Amino acid sequence: MTSHNKVAIITGAASGIGRALAVHYARQGVASVIGTFPGDPHDPEETLRLVKDASGEAVIHEVDVRTTASVDALAQRAVDEYGRLDYAIANAGILRNSPLGEMTDERWHDMLNVDLTGVLRTLRAGAERMSDGGALVAVSSIAGGVYGWEEHAHYAAAKAGVLGLVRSVAVELGPRQIRANAVIPGLIETPQSLDPVNSLGPEGLKRAGNDIPWGRVGKPEEVASVIGFLTSDDSRYITGQALVVDGGLTVK
Ligand code: NAD
Repeated sequence: MTSHNKVAIITGAASGIGRALAVHYARQGVASVIGTFPGDPHDPEETLRLVKDASGEAVIHEVDVRTTASVDALAQRAVDEYGRLDYAIANAGILRNSPLGEMTDERWHDMLNVDLTGVLRTLRAGAERMSDGGALVAVSSIAGGVYGWEEHAHYAAAKAGVLGLVRSVAVELGPRQIRANAVIPGLIETPQSLDPVNSLGPEGLKRAGNDIPWGRVGKPEEVASVIGFLTSDDSRYITGQALVVDGGLTVK
């Protein structure tokens, strides 16, 4: 993979897929700005420690994707710290359980503000600071791509919106040689899916894993490596696409 000496911003990198991606990038010689949400109970220092263990380079930067100024500051940190920005990864997301009858406008807008507009803010802030050859990746979900999920209409709508957003951005930025793609994870064992209230929880994940052709749910590293592929030169002619990473769950 030819990504050496590149610089990435990753939102939501204190845990889960974002943390795994920072470690993946460390092994590839990509420096990361580890975007961490102030309210997150997970320790961003742990992400940094794993990066250093992998002989990588990173800095921690607090970001709330609900405001443009905060996301712009994250992208600018990459330029200030490393003099360039090559990859912007819109990974941050929330998951909330809400039956349709309880889906207030507030719940709807809160979800879309993070899981859809937060992606726009991240891709926009990244693209503004990139030169030719940059790459953007957004994290969608099978709930937005190919799979209905009861009591998660707002999440599904946001994640579906991400796919349309990425396709249009890919067309717009193609002439600048900046690519935009998405990943569509299936069930991945992270703090989000381990939450028994808003998602499946540990027992539910185990049960669901038995029904997946691969025989288990996914690991964060298995999504991170696909994001790494989508930003590397190995995928330099792929843009506007979305790759499903689900162990065969949705083709069964
Ligand atoms: P996670 O909870 O570990 O990661 C989500 C991250 O987003 C957290 O670090 C959290 O602090 C951050 N975040 C939340 N609100 C934020 C805000 N306002 N500003 C900045 N950061 C914020 O779970 P994960 O599974 O690693 O999630 C990463 C992405 O993958 C999310 O977009 C999620 O929707 C998506 N996804 C996950 C699964 C799964 O099964 N785990 C499946 C499909 C898609």
